[in-house]
Amino acid sequence: MTLVRKANMLSASKTCDNQRKHLKSWEKQFPWRKPSTRSGSRKSWCSACKSELIPKLTVIKVHDQGKKHNDNLKELNSNKKMTDVAKLVQVRQKL
Ligand SMILES: [Zn+2]
Repeated sequence: MTLVRKANMLSASKTCDNQRKHLKSWEKQFPWRKPSTRSGSRKSWCSACKSELIPKLTVIKVHDQGKKHNDNLKELNSNKKMTDVAKLVQVRQKL
């Protein structure tokens, strides 16, 4: 009886470690994915769409390939460039 219990506990901790590894590799694969800032939330956060996602690899993969998400990512990148250009223009105007 005790041996079976020990084995169960070992396998339980193993799956826990695997899940953590998955999460780390997700961060490399999907840099837009952030942990949700909402307290007590275990969901993932898409910094491009500003929306919560269920932290499942299939959900994240589908979201990563979605048209809306890619449009948002592009917009986010172009906005960054826009503000940089705007700053340059402001500096030039001061000079
Ligand atoms: Zn997204």
